[in-house]
Amino acid sequence: MDRRDKHNYYLDIAETVLERGTCLRRNYGSIIVKNDEIISTGYTGAPRGRTNCIDLKKCRREELNVPRGTHYELCRSVHSEANAIISASRKDMIGATLYLVGKDANTGEFVKDANSCAMCKRLIINAGIEMVVIRDTKNEFRIVYVDEWINKDDSLSTQTGY
Ligand SMILES: [Zn+2]
Ligand SMILES: [Zn+2]
Repeated sequence: MDRRDKHNYYLDIAETVLERGTCLRRNYGSIIVKNDEIISTGYTGAPRGRTNCIDLKKCRREELNVPRGTHYELCRSVHSEANAIISASRKDMIGATLYLVGKDANTGEFVKDANSCAMCKRLIINAGIEMVVIRDTKNEFRIVYVDEWINKDDSLSTQTGY
């Protein structure tokens, strides 16, 4: 058997982190890696101490069938990227890589064309993270350089995501 390549190895870990997610719509897992060391992890979940979508048995965005990329405020979850970023120090995140995996909570399928939402992109840029690696299938992924988001800043107002 071939040895798992490094990007897929970290994506596999992010996928495991995702399994802790609590949204009924889509769950994401994020890990931040710097110099081959995992510096933090995050999954989709309600703010500490607040009830999760999964315990309420409803997600407002799911309930209202809100189109992808809009009205994140209706879901109570903090996104996985944001949770990973607030668990790390900025010093460690400069030049780091964020690995992102998303799954549909109903079908368990990988989210098609997964990407960070406009709000998370802003956080990722300000955290100093250099690139984002996003899983498309068990073995395929896309590498996004954060500079591309900075240069095409219309993507900060319209984007797919959760
Ligand atoms: Zn939700
Ligand atoms: Zn987000």
